[in-house]
Amino acid sequence: MEAFHPDRVIYNIVAKSGRVEIGMITMKFGGTSVGSAERIRQVGEIVKSELARKPIVVVSAHNSPTVRMTDTLIATAKAAKDGKADTGKVAEAERAICRALSVDPEAVGIERLLERFDQLIKGIAMIGELTPRTMDVVMSFGERMSGRVVNDVLRREFGINSAYRSSVSLGLRTDANFGSARPDPRCYPAVAKQIEDLDADVLVTTGFIAATDDGQITTLGRGGSDYSGTIFGTVTGSEEVQIWTDVSGVMTTDPRIVPSARSIPDLTFMEASELAWYGAKVLHPATMIPAMENDIPVRVKNTAEPGHPGTVIRRRIEESEDAPIAKSLAVMNGVHLITISTGRMFGTHGFMSKVFDVFNQNGVDVHMIATSEVTISVTTPKGVHVEKAAEQLKEFADVIVDRDMSLISVVGEKMKGTPGVAARVTGAMAKCGVNIRMISQGATEINIALLVQEAQVKTAVRELHRELFE
Ligand code: ADP
Ligand code: ASP
Ligand code: MG
Repeated sequence: MEAFHPDRVIYNIVAKSGRVEIGMITMKFGGTSVGSAERIRQVGEIVKSELARKPIVVVSAHNSPTVRMTDTLIATAKAAKDGKADTGKVAEAERAICRALSVDPEAVGIERLLERFDQLIKGIAMIGELTPRTMDVVMSFGERMSGRVVNDVLRREFGINSAYRSSVSLGLRTDANFGSARPDPRCYPAVAKQIEDLDADVLVTTGFIAATDDGQITTLGRGGSDYSGTIFGTVTGSEEVQIWTDVSGVMTTDPRIVPSARSIPDLTFMEASELAWYGAKVLHPATMIPAMENDIPVRVKNTAEPGHPGTVIRRRIEESEDAPIAKSLAVMNGVHLITISTGRMFGTHGFMSKVFDVFNQNGVDVHMIATSEVTISVTTPKGVHVEKAAEQLKEFADVIVDRDMSLISVVGEKMKGTPGVAARVTGAMAKCGVNIRMISQGATEINIALLVQEAQVKTAVRELHRELFE
């Protein structure tokens, strides 16, 4: 085991003293990696090959073109709220995966979970209400079922001495911010102790979910299992966290937009964080926080191609002279551009704070800001509801909301102090005829962000990719 590191917080001292025997490595398997019988068997092979490092296996709910479990759970609950209680799709999908893997759903506790899910859905239909708190309970069933399936396959097919415990039963605690809860590190020593006391070589646990102090189930936000991966890595003092997914690492951009996108061998925590916050779906944005705080490298790998080295994310990397200036392009759709102008008040004392008060009161996060002599333009991240804020702003300013915008972020630490990147970016846009509505370079200079119309985003990304990486 690695030597004691003075910077690390107290809970890691427990782990690093060597008392925790499970968890030298944490392996998170995403929805597509546990989406089908075939993939789950690949997971078994991969876990088996790492047995010497006593893995903590963190799993997502099944996700394949035929079984989108989390989405199906959500749709089932929404239909129940409107009076239609039918859990058939969820039950059938889970049982089909069990059948394909010869898992006995009764014996591993899945039938009991399905029964409870059915009761919950009937309850929602009866009262016609679906709160964020109830939605978290609904979503939790996906991970709780897939964890049991994966554990059973590891034990029966691969002869691994593994044990399943949900992250809730291990005592992982969060705040009560249902739908996007944040972990409470004070619970970590107790969680580590629970893991330490397990009589098993491998722990299989649930990503995405946890609970409040008083036992209410919470979720960490969509895609949050990546975050669970680095949380468990922190709890156990893992020397590495592996994120197993359906692509061979973080790529130069989303391969669904640019099929020729390449895998990036290494990224810094800052670069990966920036990419994730600005829309690269491959990692949940908060994933890097625990990794950074505890200096745990994160490796992104492909379950379907385990031999590929993927991407390593760590604090510092040695860049060769000829390394590309930019590392990757992140894309976020569904962004709003709000333009606020007033001839009367702009530049007067207090105007800015009045504007931001309105955003604050309405829970509107702001991404990018640009000001001119008479206007402030701001962008909001995907999913933010801006209508109420816009109405309030209209009481003292002219407001235009442009919807269906996309934010493209060019990320790379090497851009710091390298002149000419912005010129290449704007040049590429001129070449493909895409109008840049807003452009900004963060103070850290590792990100150049540009806002374009969503209808033009693919053209823009393809041209930028050609310019910077091909
Ligand atoms: P998982 O189920 O393993 O959590 P996700 O679907 O959440 O997988 O994330 C993987 C997907 O992220 C990829 O299939 C890819 O389409 C998308 N993606 C977006 N940006 C990138 C990027 N820069 N590099 C790799 N994948 C990306
Ligand atoms: N199952 C959850 C989701 O679909 C969490 C995850 O997959 O990371 O959002
Ligand atoms: Mg994901």
